[in-house]
Amino acid sequence: MGCNETHHLLDGYVDGELDLTSTLEIEQHLQACAACSHAYNNQLALRTAISAGSLYFTPPLNLQKRIQVSLRKESKSKTAPRVIAWRWISIATALAAVLLIALGLSRVVFVPSADDHLTQDVLASHIRSLMANHLVDVVSSNQHTVKPWFDGKLDFSPSVVDLAKQGFPLVGGRLDYLDNRPVAALVYQRRKHVINLFIWPSTQNTDVGTQMITRQGYHLFSWTKAGTTYWAVSDVSTSELQQFVQLVQQQTS
Ligand SMILES: [Zn+2]
Repeated sequence: MGCNETHHLLDGYVDGELDLTSTLEIEQHLQACAACSHAYNNQLALRTAISAGSLYFTPPLNLQKRIQVSLRKESKSKTAPRVIAWRWISIATALAAVLLIALGLSRVVFVPSADDHLTQDVLASHIRSLMANHLVDVVSSNQHTVKPWFDGKLDFSPSVVDLAKQGFPLVGGRLDYLDNRPVAALVYQRRKHVINLFIWPSTQNTDVGTQMITRQGYHLFSWTKAGTTYWAVSDVSTSELQQFVQLVQQQTS
């Protein structure tokens, strides 16, 4: 992606409205291009200032009703011909306001759920780890090397299971950031395929059964067990990833 296109898409990127591919391409460009990265930081600062400061205006709840009432009054009242132009302008203004409110509402309604965001973030982390040449921070097939590596880097100690005999050798580990917190990423391999297993403490106490979703050719399995949330992501076949997930579940319970 070039500078022009990046500038064009920057607003959408800051608002988190781009698709995954564009997001990753912009991220890559921002890392390489100082000018665009500067523009991005400005945009981010501006956005933060607006939403934190007094410039951010939330319309009062009864505004829409008041506009409708005044519209009705306007259309009923008899007015002298030379006022008509003004009347139409005020109606047009009111309609524009109603339209803006409706757009605002539809934005709220169609915003993806927190789960959707997390799925997208987990998938983005997986793809980024493959693209950015940053698959592992600690390279080791030994669980007794990988587990202590996380000590002091995370506020929890992830279980690192050895699945080499079952055909899923450990490659290493990496720090990642998901769900607004640092998480452990364990990297396993299945033939030429990479499996990222993300682990972090759950914010809720209840267990959540295994859920599977397929996005853009990648399979994502997630579950929460004993206060820990797990996400396994890969492009191996569903059955192989499911086998991996079952092995992890057996060995971590
Ligand atoms: Zn640029």
